[in-house]
Amino acid sequence: MKGLYSKNMSVDSNKTFYLETFGCQMNVHDSEKVIGTLVHEGYRQVETVEQADLILYNTCSIRDKAEQKVFHRLADYKKLLAQGKKFGVLGCVAQQEGEKIFERAPHVSLVCGSASYRKLPEMLFELEKNWAAVPNRAEESQVPSSEFTHSGNTRNPRLATQSLVRITGLDDRETDECFETEFTARTNPHRGYITIIEGCDKFCAYCVVPFTRGKERSRTSESVLAEARQMADLGYTEIQLLGQNVNSYKDPAGKPGGGFSRKRTFAELLAAVGEVPGIRRVRFTTSHPRDFGRDIIEAIDAVPTLCDHVHLPVQSGSDRVLNAMQRLYTREQYMERIAWMKAAKREISITSDVIVGFPGETEEDFAETLSLLDEVGYDSVFTFKYSPRPNTPSLALEDAIPDEEKARRLEVLMARQREIQIARYKKYIGIISEVMVEGRNESRAQWIGRTSQNKTLNFTAPEPSAPKVGSYVPVRATASFPNSLVGEMVV
Ligand code: SAM
Ligand code: SF4
Repeated sequence: MKGLYSKNMSVDSNKTFYLETFGCQMNVHDSEKVIGTLVHEGYRQVETVEQADLILYNTCSIRDKAEQKVFHRLADYKKLLAQGKKFGVLGCVAQQEGEKIFERAPHVSLVCGSASYRKLPEMLFELEKNWAAVPNRAEESQVPSSEFTHSGNTRNPRLATQSLVRITGLDDRETDECFETEFTARTNPHRGYITIIEGCDKFCAYCVVPFTRGKERSRTSESVLAEARQMADLGYTEIQLLGQNVNSYKDPAGKPGGGFSRKRTFAELLAAVGEVPGIRRVRFTTSHPRDFGRDIIEAIDAVPTLCDHVHLPVQSGSDRVLNAMQRLYTREQYMERIAWMKAAKREISITSDVIVGFPGETEEDFAETLSLLDEVGYDSVFTFKYSPRPNTPSLALEDAIPDEEKARRLEVLMARQREIQIARYKKYIGIISEVMVEGRNESRAQWIGRTSQNKTLNFTAPEPSAPKVGSYVPVRATASFPNSLVGEMVV
């Protein structure tokens, strides 16, 4: 887009927006940055679609179900176009489907992939300007529905089922841009995300991310640390470093635009964030097993603020399936990394992602995944049925496993993992852990806490010692469930 735009040059500063986010933590944090950007541009965030002039969906396309959700949501509200509301699709579905979204949902005016968010201010300006220029909008909304037509992408102002404005921000995979902004609107005043790496170069056979989020590009460690210090100054005590593969992080320091500061490895960056005064907890997600070095565990051993939790997605316990998935490691190599974690000074809680029903997965392959669950003893596993995705290499494989069989395997897997968690969580009864107080559940008369291991520990506290949200308090676990602990604050 070429440049009539200048900062804060909004056509009407009394604009409202509604934003709904689907998908992973990366999307949640992208939305915080998008919200901050919109507010800086003079928009006001509102709680409902009905109150908004601009309705935005930050979308996820990791599985077909997630993608369909967005189109259902768009269909539910398309009638609001006649009231002059504008619709925008952001994120992975936007990047994946591009201009095809205007055909599937003709009432949409803005389509913007995550790699183009830095251009949002200009795009919003264009949107408002073109929108204001469309003639007879009020008259148009009074056209009886029988006269509406869905066909074509014309600019006939009498059509109130399709937007007459089309703005797109679709970078290609090779973009070097990162979305860094000083206007992040963080929703939690105590813990917050920092993106350290965007995109992905791994191309796992089933995954759309390399196509929707572009190639890997890391921020300089200096800029990450500056953001961490700024957050600490604002009173944040917990930071979560984010990336599709955080441990593929490559510090661009020294490169053009990277300044002359020294390069840090991911483990060094992790330790440096952990040493920022005021920061009490540092988490990171997600790690890829291929790039998971022992130095990460050494950093956790050396720096007490680094949380004793590692999320290391395995996807399958079978070498044959791992190879077909192009995961770039074997079960043995994965277990080597688990062994490093188990040898750490503090007990590290290990969690994972598993896909069942990848094309060609046999009963034997599946049994190997079950045996891997037993061998590792995860504290939590996100389980998914394989979902064929556009552009991915595994689309060429025959998706031979019927959905009912995938569903059966998923159930078996979840049941096995549940047993493992029941046994694992029981071991914490009687143990005192420090929790960050996240809130209060009035109906249960309990405080909600989270341990460094990322376990939920709900607890009671005597009235005079009621803890503050965001504070850290010691809690003794007195009972366990498969996904949480219950306890009493130690006073
Ligand atoms: N980058 C991380 C990694 O390498 O494991 C995870 C990224 S992805 C957003 C989160 C999880 O979604 C993956 O670990 C995988 O288990 C699941 N997933 C991705 N594509 C999938 C697909 N096509 N079908 C089912 N599950 C999928
Ligand atoms: Fe997807 Fe694999 Fe990249 Fe993770 S590493 S985002 S699963 S392609």
